[in-house]
Amino acid sequence: MTSQRTRSRLVQRLKDQGITDQQVLDVMANTPRHIFIDEALSHRAYEDTALPIGFNQTISQPYIVAKMTELLLAEGDLERVLEVGTGSGYQTTVLAQLVEKVFSVERIKPLQDKARQRFSLLKLHNISLRHCDGGMGWPDKGPFDGIIVTAAPEEVPPELLAQLAIGGRLVIPVGGSRHQLLKLVIRHSETEYETTVLEGVKFVPLLTGTVR
Ligand code: SAH
Repeated sequence: MTSQRTRSRLVQRLKDQGITDQQVLDVMANTPRHIFIDEALSHRAYEDTALPIGFNQTISQPYIVAKMTELLLAEGDLERVLEVGTGSGYQTTVLAQLVEKVFSVERIKPLQDKARQRFSLLKLHNISLRHCDGGMGWPDKGPFDGIIVTAAPEEVPPELLAQLAIGGRLVIPVGGSRHQLLKLVIRHSETEYETTVLEGVKFVPLLTGTVR
């Protein structure tokens, strides 16, 4: 169930759905998604679906992880990337294999703790984690070449726009009640941002405050 063949089948599905970035496909083929999911559900790890990870949260669907990563990387390699919503750490792990350094924030401490153990198991050493309300981003570590948000706010948080480097890319689901639009925002200059609306998506909401 966790074999290379099962993973290859998932990657074929991602290609069929329009993912073309070979780097992203290779990383998805080599990332063990089953270790990000509780054992009781791990037999479903290579299905192209979101799955519960506790605390009313979900590990993102592989297609959406691939899509958001591809959008982020479309203009070339990135150095510093901020992720809002570490969750299981699966998206973080995919990113960490494709960019220099990942900064990831999570508001639920027990999820962050589990993700940290997984990064150490996978020997990923280019990830920094912070327990905080990530709607504010991580100002001390910015500006970022890329920002990826894996929970949906009603509007794009201005703090995240401010922490985007010039030329930087923000990929974010926006909208209420578990149905949103995926948006790509590119910062062209100090004051100029270009927004492209991509497709309908379904994320858990971006919430305020933290859980210990
Ligand atoms: N990328 C994750 C997705 C997890 S679901 C994965 O593939 O597993 C979204 C995550 O965003 C949840 O863990 C949730 O707790 C977190 N989240 C929601 N609002 C947040 C906020 N304001 N700051 C930081 N994390 C937040």
